[in-house]
Amino acid sequence: MADACKYSLHCLQCQRRYSADAVSYFCPHCELDGALDLEYDYRGQRAAFVAALGPGSPFDMWRYHPLLPVSGDGVPALHTGGSPLYEAAAAGGGRVFIKDDSRNPSGSLKDRASALAVTLAQQRGASVIAAASTGNAAAALACMSAASELRCVIFAPANAAREKLAQIRAYGAEVTEVQGAYDEAFAACHHACLQHGWYNRSTGLNAYMTEGKKTVAFEIYEQLGRRVPDRVYVPVGNGCIVGAVYKGFRELVDMGLEARVPQIIGVQATGSDYLWRAWQAGNGPHAAQALAPRTAASSISVALPRDRIKALRAVQASGGEFLRVSDAAIYESVIGLARRCGVFAEPGAATAYAGALVHGAFTAPLTSVVLVTGSGLKDVSGLLSSGLLSRPAHAAALETLTDGVRACLRAAAWGPPPPLARA
Ligand SMILES: *Cc1c(COP(=O)(O)O)cnc(C)c1O
Ligand SMILES: [Zn+2]
Repeated sequence: MADACKYSLHCLQCQRRYSADAVSYFCPHCELDGALDLEYDYRGQRAAFVAALGPGSPFDMWRYHPLLPVSGDGVPALHTGGSPLYEAAAAGGGRVFIKDDSRNPSGSLKDRASALAVTLAQQRGASVIAAASTGNAAAALACMSAASELRCVIFAPANAAREKLAQIRAYGAEVTEVQGAYDEAFAACHHACLQHGWYNRSTGLNAYMTEGKKTVAFEIYEQLGRRVPDRVYVPVGNGCIVGAVYKGFRELVDMGLEARVPQIIGVQATGSDYLWRAWQAGNGPHAAQALAPRTAASSISVALPRDRIKALRAVQASGGEFLRVSDAAIYESVIGLARRCGVFAEPGAATAYAGALVHGAFTAPLTSVVLVTGSGLKDVSGLLSSGLLSRPAHAAALETLTDGVRACLRAAAWGPPPPLARA
């Protein structure tokens, strides 16, 4: 495997190090309690990375292949990543940008991970790829499998949302319903993959998924004119995305291209706040109590976040924060983003915007980026039942919540701007 020597793996839990061919998904010592990080030769890859930022390579996630565990050949043809960054006009002295990752093939940021997963599966000779998921990860995997030669099997808990199951089935994936909740589906998927030699994309088990998702950070850097923002607001469920956003920015520092990482602000729903509680208590990623989640934002509804080690590290190492927002504020933000910016997000995806509002991003004299992770079309029934669409007085309530923000879009960066002359 030509790409295997590009990186090694480091467990953030036990600090053991492994070569790429010694590991398939997770730390052999800690198993599912570990957190494997891929590490590249950053100084060695710097020149190739910078060369890949030129106008010759398409603006999608594969332009960053010098820092991916694949070469960029044999990837799904669907245009993945390269999503637009919009500037929203702010009331204060700061600048706020919206990174719209709902503009991906299956409608969520999960496509970045699933596109990488099918590529890795094919490299390893698997003909079947599987995942346990109730929603966007499964839809993304079904989508990317349809664009490749792989058979896709999804293990879904019995209570999975009908709308997302419909999208998964439309792409032709096989859905195995598992009695029980997500944990049972996760275990069933793990066992089936071991038994049949299938490739397993499940989040929290497959350490490589971080690598696909981190490309969103590289894009933000390019779209801001090869600069990092001061803050990035990220919705948090299992914690994979927030850990990946941090990793992308930190790799820019590791390559010597940037001096600092932005503050990473992880935003959770109040009814699914394990990481916020762990961060508040300061006793590390394992000491908080796993509580049954209660939030309508299904994409971030998690009792025990599987990527909690990486998520906590992202916020702590960047000097960021965790925030919590109520379901009411999340639904207000779905409406606010749609009406003020023309960007329609699902509730989980609008959570970062809700966090940015309560955190004062629109009045702070800073550059902030709000990550929108998935399309509003994915959870229409939730929005309908929120009552916000028909409430006549809703504009006034929104005004209070947003504190006078005028977030009409000012400017958009679709591709990377030409490189700026910089010392
Ligand atoms: C998966 C997902 C999230 C949360 O990502 P985690 O890695 O689980 O923290 C947020 N928004 C959307 C739309 C998602 O699909
Ligand atoms: Zn370990």
